[in-house]
Amino acid sequence: MSANREQAVVDGVPKELFIAGEWRAATGGHTYEVEDPSTGKVLCAVADAAPDDGLAALDAAAQAQGEWGRSAPRERGEILRRTFELLLERQDDLALLMTLEMGKPLAEAKGEIAYAAEFCRWFSEEAVRIEGSYMSSPDGRSRFLVMKQPVGPSLLVTPWNFPMAMGARKIAPAVAAGCTMVAKPAPQTPLCMLALAEILAEAGLPAGVLNVVPTMQAGPVMEPLIKDPRSRKLSFTGSTGVGRILLAQAADQVLRVSLELGGNAPFLVFADADLEAAVDGAMLAKMRNAGEACTAANRFYVHEDVAGEFAERLAARMSVLRVGRGVDDGVTVGPLIDGGAVAKVSSLVEDAVALGARTVVGGTPIDRPGYFFAPTVLVDVPPAARLAREEIFGPVAPITTFRDEDEAVAAANATEFGLVAYVFTQDLDRALRVAERLESGMVGLNSGLVSNPAAPFGGVKQSGLGREGGRVGIEEFLETKYVGIPVR
Ligand code: NAP
Repeated sequence: MSANREQAVVDGVPKELFIAGEWRAATGGHTYEVEDPSTGKVLCAVADAAPDDGLAALDAAAQAQGEWGRSAPRERGEILRRTFELLLERQDDLALLMTLEMGKPLAEAKGEIAYAAEFCRWFSEEAVRIEGSYMSSPDGRSRFLVMKQPVGPSLLVTPWNFPMAMGARKIAPAVAAGCTMVAKPAPQTPLCMLALAEILAEAGLPAGVLNVVPTMQAGPVMEPLIKDPRSRKLSFTGSTGVGRILLAQAADQVLRVSLELGGNAPFLVFADADLEAAVDGAMLAKMRNAGEACTAANRFYVHEDVAGEFAERLAARMSVLRVGRGVDDGVTVGPLIDGGAVAKVSSLVEDAVALGARTVVGGTPIDRPGYFFAPTVLVDVPPAARLAREEIFGPVAPITTFRDEDEAVAAANATEFGLVAYVFTQDLDRALRVAERLESGMVGLNSGLVSNPAAPFGGVKQSGLGREGGRVGIEEFLETKYVGIPVR
């Protein structure tokens, strides 16, 4: 990839705040620097919103809500449809932009642009299928008219790991439902959100419907908005720790809340599994996004009869991965997001090894510019290891054995998280029995990938509240109103 093309793609994106349909500088002209995690070098500077800018964004959203909430569903659907088309038309440039600010290999970035576009297509179709109901009361004396209305100005807070898809997964249903928004992207990856805002405006989204405020001061900018009576909804994707803080802040105005939080996905391989399919699934569930995914397999529980072979095959596949800058040909694993991420993954591996785990492949950071960690397989990982309890968020596969189904399910459920679990078995009865017993919002059955815009994505326990995507995704941005009418 030529340095000129990289620069041109970064230069092509607005770097200012997007408020009331205009690109503007932050109060005081403040900016902050965005870095390429594969080199550690600065890519560009982006406007750094202050609390007053956040309030200006909410002013714009609140002002636009009335007219936007009354707009024709078809109009909203067509804006999303055009956005879907524009995202795909510009897939190559947008993918490069994502690789530069976030690090994932170009092929994965292209996949994420397509995934983000699909949310726009899915919700363009849902916009015109918002339904209510009409019925007679059981005693026949009343009629019940039930309608759905936009919840109102919504606050969207997104993480850096899927910088386009996490924005689209919130913005598309909010647009479809007729809600206005203030979106705050993660500071590491504002460029994808700014590019998406520009595309939505080009697709016809009216001024003030979507406002974007990148900032290095997440708390001071967002807390006043969360506590502002004009806000009606908070939709957050990020860590469980921050989710808890925002849930407490949202109590002030009793905001509607959707939370997509952290995961600690178990990956169960039974003795009757198709082992090659399990290894394929493991590579996908573990190595997509270099393990920096809420859905990443975090703990591998493999039946003792097949654990040795599974570990060997997985290690063989991990050892031939090509780690490097995501823009370079043939690279299959990019950098982690920053130095802190490398330090955290290193300390989790060191802790496991100190407690008796054995490294089959990898196990250390890679000494080169940027933030790289070697694809790693650990075996004999004891339950006391920190990485059995904490999100690894890196390319490390810890393997533990089990003897029977009860032991496997108990180990899988022994966490406060409950986003996704993966099960590999060819026994249908076992598959259904285990899927029912797992405490998670999603189960990948003989599959290492569950994300799909047409499916309800979300977690139970401390992995979150609500669902994104699927038929229920739009409900997160709709209120139900009932009108009681006496029969005369
Ligand atoms: P994070 O540290 O929780 O940050 C997420 C977002 O929240 C960022 O934009 C962050 O901005 C912002 N934030 C932090 N403190 C805030 C506050 N007090 N008020 C308002 N906003 C605040 O998470 P991350 O490191 O970006 O992302 C990784 C986490 O996201 C992992 O735990 C992963 O599992 C989870 N995740 C979950 C899903 C899902 O669908 N369940 C999907 C993707 C990621 P600052 O960085 O400026 O603080």
